[in-house]
Amino acid sequence: MGFFMRRNSAILKEMTAAHYSVLIIGGGIAGSTAALYLATLGVKVLVIEKQQYPNHKVCGEYVSNEVLPFLSELGIIPQKRNAPQIDTFLMTNRQGKTLNASLPQGGFGISRYAFDEWLYEEASAAGTEYIFETVTSCTFRTSYFEVKTQESSTYHADYVLGAFGKRSNLDQSLNRPFMKQKSPWLGVKMHYEASFPTNQVALHHFDGGYCGLSKTESGSVNLCYLASYDAFKRFGDITAFQQNVLRQNPFLNDFLKEAKPLFEAPITIGQISFEAKEPVVDGILMIGDSAGLIHPLCGNGMAMAIHAAKIAVDIVYEASTDQMSREAVEAQYQSRWTETFQSRLKMGRRLQNALLNETVQKGIFTFGNLFPKAVPYIISKTHGKPIA
Ligand SMILES: Cc1cc2nc3c(=O)[nH]c(=O)nc-3n(C[C@H](O)[C@H](O)[C@H](O)COP(=O)(O)OP(=O)(O)OC[C@H]3O[C@@H](n4cnc5c(N)ncnc54)[C@H](O)[C@@H]3O)c2cc1C
Repeated sequence: MGFFMRRNSAILKEMTAAHYSVLIIGGGIAGSTAALYLATLGVKVLVIEKQQYPNHKVCGEYVSNEVLPFLSELGIIPQKRNAPQIDTFLMTNRQGKTLNASLPQGGFGISRYAFDEWLYEEASAAGTEYIFETVTSCTFRTSYFEVKTQESSTYHADYVLGAFGKRSNLDQSLNRPFMKQKSPWLGVKMHYEASFPTNQVALHHFDGGYCGLSKTESGSVNLCYLASYDAFKRFGDITAFQQNVLRQNPFLNDFLKEAKPLFEAPITIGQISFEAKEPVVDGILMIGDSAGLIHPLCGNGMAMAIHAAKIAVDIVYEASTDQMSREAVEAQYQSRWTETFQSRLKMGRRLQNALLNETVQKGIFTFGNLFPKAVPYIISKTHGKPIA
C-alpha cells in the first residue's frame, strides 16, 4: 500500500510538472543571455543552474565588442559596471620578445563574478525563473522535453537550450563522443592587485602554454592561463609551476614579482576539450561551450556564447510564431551555427598550433613586427562582425 501510494504520487508529480515554452540548462554567459533575450520577447522561460551566483570561473574575462550592440539592446552596457574598454594587444614569447597590435574591434574587461550575476539579475528582472538544481537528464517525449534534476524535480518544456558549458555530467548522459577522449589542457585563474594598462590585453607565452592578463571592472588584474598537463606534471603544483615555468617569461616574471594575489588560492579547471561537438543533440539546441569551445587565445568564447544564444532564440521564437516543425528548427540552428562559427573555430585551432610551435612562433613574431597590419587581420579572422 505504502509503495503504491509512493508510486502514484511520483506519477502525479510527473504529470503535473511545470511546463515552460523554453527551458535552459545552465545559467552562465550563454544561458542567461538567451534567458534575458527570451524574457524581453515575452516567452515563459526557466533556467536551471547548479551553482548560486556570484562565483568565480576560469576565464580570461575579455569580451569582444562584436556583441556590444546586441548586449546594449538588452540593457547590458559595460560602462554601467565600470568595465574598461580594451583596444590594444601585446604578445610576448618565452624570451620576452614583443609584438604590439591594435585590436580591430576591441573589447571590454569584466570578471565572470560580476558578468554572470549581472546577466542573471537582468534576466530575473525581465521575468525569467531560475532554479538552482543540477540537471541529470533531458529526454524528448514525442512532443515535449522532460528534464529531471538530482533534487528529484521534473520539468517539461517545448524547447530546451543546452548551455551547460565545456564539460558537464549531461555530456556523459548524452554519450557525447568528446567525453571519451582525454584532453591535455588545464586552466588556472587568479585576480591580482597590480599596475597594468587599462586598455590592454596581453598574451604571454611560456613553455607548454600561454597566459592572458587584462583589467576587470573592479580594478583588479585577471591572470588566466592554459597549460598542457605534460608541462604541468613535471612540477605538480601551481606555485612551483608558476615559479619555474611562467616566470621564465620576463614579462610574467615582472608582473608576478610585484602583483598582490586577491584570492586565497588560484582557481583551476582540468580536462578542457577543444574537440568538435554537435550543435544539436537529441533535439537540444546547444549554445556556448556546449556546442564547441574556441581556443582561449582568440578571446572570443564569451562573444560566441552570446551570439549562439541570439541565433537559437531567434529561431525558437520564429518557430513559435510561424508553426515551424521541430525538424526545421533543428536543421536551421545546425546550419546557422556551422555557418557562423565553423571557420573561426578552425582558425583558432590553427593559430594555437602555430603559436605553441617554437619555430613557427618565431616566424610569426618576425612577420608580425615587419607587417604590423597582419596581426589585426589574423585576429579579425577569429572574430565575427558586430551583431545587433
Ligand atoms: C583558460 C580559458 C580562458 C578563457 N578566456 C576567455 C576570454 O578571455 N574571453 C572569452 O570571450 N572567452 C574566454 N574563454 C572561454 C569562455 O570562458 C567560455 O567560452 C564561456 O564561459 C562560455 O560560456 P557558457 O555559458 O557556454 O559556459 P559557462 O559559463 O561555463 O556556463 C555553463 C553553466 O552551466 C552550469 N551547469 C553545468 N552543468 C549543469 C547541470 N547539469 N545542471 C545545471 N547547471 C549546469 C554551470 O554551473 C555553469 O554555470 C576562456 C576559456 C578558458 C578555458
